[in-house]
Amino acid sequence: LLKDAFIFLNKALLNSYQKLEESNFTDSLTGIYNRKKFDEYATFIFNDAQRYNHTFSIIVIDLNKFKPINDIYGHNVGDKILVTLVSNIEKSSRNDDILIRWGGEEFIMILKVSSENGLKIALENLRKIIENSKIDNLPKITCSFGGTLYEKNEPINNTIKRADEALYMAKAAGRNKVILK
Ligand code: GH3
Ligand code: MG
Repeated sequence: LLKDAFIFLNKALLNSYQKLEESNFTDSLTGIYNRKKFDEYATFIFNDAQRYNHTFSIIVIDLNKFKPINDIYGHNVGDKILVTLVSNIEKSSRNDDILIRWGGEEFIMILKVSSENGLKIALENLRKIIENSKIDNLPKITCSFGGTLYEKNEPINNTIKRADEALYMAKAAGRNKVILK
């Protein structure tokens, strides 16, 4: 009986530990992974890219003029827009694309796309889907996109920095744009 109780307790402990760890890596609003999970994925994809000698893409997505939307319609509407956006992105991306909530209204995505042309097509497609998706009576939103290909042997932070610079250029170019760098 004591042994059974011990096993039961052990399982319960393991279960709650796993749940805790999962929640630690999950964004509570949208249910997707958060920044903490990025490193794990990045290492995995990095190793994969080295081993098979192919590359991948990093993109950064940022909502346009989201602050005014929050100010006018309220934070709850803002939250609903974020959840809807994530669901739209996930619906229109491939299974092995990884979407991560990077910060407030900024997302990062790792795509198994290894050509600039392929990346451009994927991002334009996503940009249009977001631009054209109007849900309930939520205010319309658009996103800006910065993307780049991982360059062999570079630290992943360089890749992110380049994608960020491309995003900045997309904002400067008038928003609701895709820029690759
Ligand atoms: P830009 O086009 O230059 O990106 O303008 P912006 O207004 O989107 O950018 P800014 O950085 O000024 O504002 C970001 C806003 O995103 C401010 C903040 O209220 C909102 N935001 C961030 N996280 C959340 C969230 O979890 N929920 C809601 N409702 N709003 C959020
Ligand atoms: Mg923004």
